[in-house]
Amino acid sequence: MKRDIHPKYMPARVTCACGSTFVTRATKPEIRIEICSSCHPFYTGRQKLVDTERRVERFNLRYERYQQAKARQEKSGKAS
Ligand SMILES: [Zn+2]
Repeated sequence: MKRDIHPKYMPARVTCACGSTFVTRATKPEIRIEICSSCHPFYTGRQKLVDTERRVERFNLRYERYQQAKARQEKSGKAS
């Protein structure tokens, strides 16, 4: 190996968004990932919605508010 051109290779803890962690070796001591072999549908065999940014939840919330606003509008429209 050539001197002084290689990054440090150290034990690294990998943390997944699903909560599982494992140790490997890398040039960084800590790695955060969104999907790993214990939560990816390919390995688990079951279909799962990967929603780490909670986009689906936020959409449902917004849609609910929209429906409520629409209902209110219709009600006030009939009254006048
Ligand atoms: Zn995972």
